[in-house]
Amino acid sequence: MVKAIVGANWGDEGKGKITDVLASGSDMVIRFQGGANAGHTIINDYGKFALHQLPSGVFHQNIINIIGNGVAFSVENFVKEMKELKDRGVPEPNIIISDRAQIVMPYHVAFDCYEEERLGKNSFGSTKSGIAPFYSDKYSKIGFQINELYDDPDSLKAKISHALEIKNATLKNLYNKPPITEEEVFDKLMEYKEQLASYVGDAFTVVHKALKEGKTILLEGQLGSLKDTDFGIYPMVTSSNTIAGYGAVGAGIPPYEIKEIVTVVKAYSSAVGAGEFVSEIFGDEADELRRRGGDGGEFGATTGRPRRMGWLDLVATRYGCMVQGATQVAFTVLDVLGYLDEIPVCVGYELDGEVIDYFPSTTKLKGIKNYDELPKECRDYIEFAEKEIGVPIKMVSNGPSRNDIIYR
Ligand code: GDP
Repeated sequence: MVKAIVGANWGDEGKGKITDVLASGSDMVIRFQGGANAGHTIINDYGKFALHQLPSGVFHQNIINIIGNGVAFSVENFVKEMKELKDRGVPEPNIIISDRAQIVMPYHVAFDCYEEERLGKNSFGSTKSGIAPFYSDKYSKIGFQINELYDDPDSLKAKISHALEIKNATLKNLYNKPPITEEEVFDKLMEYKEQLASYVGDAFTVVHKALKEGKTILLEGQLGSLKDTDFGIYPMVTSSNTIAGYGAVGAGIPPYEIKEIVTVVKAYSSAVGAGEFVSEIFGDEADELRRRGGDGGEFGATTGRPRRMGWLDLVATRYGCMVQGATQVAFTVLDVLGYLDEIPVCVGYELDGEVIDYFPSTTKLKGIKNYDELPKECRDYIEFAEKEIGVPIKMVSNGPSRNDIIYR
């Protein structure tokens, strides 16, 4: 049975934590899109981790973690994250990197920086992880699948030389930067080859075997619906599809196997980068929510940038859930709103704008395990959001740690 965990909004909805919670009952966790450009925060017995690329099942020794073919795979980031787990006492996880996944080349990161520099004030606010150049090259067929590292060196060299013709022309004529040599790229790829050797495998076959055996598989999405290349706020989107449907492609599974789509909705909104954000708030009101938000403030897990803040946008959330094909909602970071007496909610872009609900001035929301023990105002907020979204909220997250979860 395949279950997807994805975001309904701009990302940072708390997917990492929900994946960590659901991972304990799963056999396999698969990352199917995106790269090291966003982070999942997970708090468990080993401490607090910001995972950028590793699947969230890495803390459970009985889980097979797969980096799917749809991922923009950064070897450097992978090596760094694996080292961090080791240094912090996490036992060696079980990881398979799809031999069909493509590699973020060192020059992808450089191109990302050069392009943002060229765009100046019109830049996208990229995390400069090389993701857009990576996917451009993938679809231009000058990308490198991991299996090519293990091919014969002459074929690899020929391919590098072909890719560099285009890259060097752009470097010289558009960016006015020095060219890249075939040797430096080849040497780097040989370094990668060695670093990855014990993790690369035929993930497709492993996944299909697991499906056949009736194993429980989690597809772990990055970012959210509104950052999807096709359905998001284009062009202020990410360069891969963030929707559960893409899981079929990026993990290599039949689409009809995805039975559950747990869509994570945060009890308020936050976004990084430019683009439409109707329920955005500013000034002191935003500062206070940002400071109290998430776990230790709403600042980018990868960049540390302050996130843009806003109230729950039910119009965007309803759309975000439709785009995902949500079968249930996990409603997160509810505890943070405990400081407010009134919580504005955006219910319509062309209506009067805001609906006010009432909420207790309490921080006691954390630690509650049963839905009925939540204050009535809090239950009203959840039930109101549920009605407006039109998808059952089956999980409520009222704190950052694994145990702060209420099932309905
Ligand atoms: P993701 O990319 O969707 O996984 O989102 P993040 O990793 O950015 O998670 C957002 C932040 O919220 C992280 O710092 C989490 O630890 C934190 N978090 C997740 N769920 C809850 C919750 O229910 N309450 C609080 N206070 N923090 C949460």
